[in-house]
Amino acid sequence: MVIHTQKETLVQALSSIKKNDKIGFVPTMGALHNGHMSLVNKALEENSLVVVSIFVNPTQFNNQADLKKYPRTPDDDISLLKSVKGEIIVYFPEISDLYEDAITAKKYNFGNLENEMEGKHRKGHFDGVGTVVSKLLKIVKPDTAYFGEKDFQQLQIVKKLVTIEELPVKIVGCPILREENGLAMSSRNKRLSETQFDEAAVIYKILKEVQQKFASTSITDLNAMVAERFLQNPNLKLEYFEIADEETLKTATHKNSKSKYRAFVAVFAGKVRLIDNISLN
Ligand code: AMP
Repeated sequence: MVIHTQKETLVQALSSIKKNDKIGFVPTMGALHNGHMSLVNKALEENSLVVVSIFVNPTQFNNQADLKKYPRTPDDDISLLKSVKGEIIVYFPEISDLYEDAITAKKYNFGNLENEMEGKHRKGHFDGVGTVVSKLLKIVKPDTAYFGEKDFQQLQIVKKLVTIEELPVKIVGCPILREENGLAMSSRNKRLSETQFDEAAVIYKILKEVQQKFASTSITDLNAMVAERFLQNPNLKLEYFEIADEETLKTATHKNSKSKYRAFVAVFAGKVRLIDNISLN
C-alpha cells in the first residue's frame, strides 16, 4: 500500500498503470470504520486498483467546533487499510494540496437537491461537498467512485455533480452498515459515550417502525408518531424527520404510487449530530 500526500505524485503513480486496469475510488474523511471498509471492499471486487482518500474537508463544515472535534485517527486508518487484501493507494493530503489559493467552496446549483434536509440545516454544506468531490475526481480520474447511502442526499448530489461537470465516472451507491444495536456506523459515533451509543439505537428502531407502517399509515400520522417517539427519548434531540421522494428529495406530504420514498432523520445525542435514513417502498 502506497500513501501519497501530494496530488502530483499520486497523479504520476496513476498515470503508469495499465490501460485496461480499472480504478475505483472511495473518498473519506478518515476515522475509518466497517462502513467505509464495505465501500473499499466493493471497490476492490470491481476494480484492479482502489484509491482511498482521507481528507477532512473544511469547506463542508458549517460549524467550526464540529470541524475541530471531527475524529482523526490516521494511524488506525492506515493499519485498517493495510489489513485489506488488494491493491490500495491512499491519498492523504494537507489542506493546501487541495485548496491552493483560498479555502473556499464553489457555489453550485444542484437543481434544488442542495436546499432540502441537510442543506437547510447545514448552510453551504453541499457547496463544500461538491467542491472537494469535484477536485478529487479530477485528480484521481477513477472509472467508478463509491459513496454510502448513509449520506443519501450527498449520494444524489454527487450523481448530479458528475452530470453537471460532465465527469466521466460511474457513481455507485452502497448500503448502510450498522452496529449490532442498529445504529448506523459513523466516524462521529466515536464521540458518543457508552450510554449515548446505547440510547442512539432507538433511531433505527423508529425508522424500522416507520418502514413497517408506511403502507398502511398516512405521512401526517407517521410524522406525528416519530415526533412522539423522540419526545419519549429526551436524551435525543430531533433536528428533523422527513419522508421524501428519493429522486427529488422533496418533502412528501402524500403518497403517490409511482414514487420511491425514504425516511430521513437528523438527531443530536448531546453535541454529536447523527443522521440516518431508510427506504420505505
Ligand atoms: P465520511 O468519511 O463520513 O465522509 O464517509 C465516506 C463515505 O463512506 C461516504 O460515501 C459515506 O456515505 C460512506 N459511509 C459512511 N458511513 C457509512 C455506513 N455506515 N455505511 C455505508 N457507508 C458509509
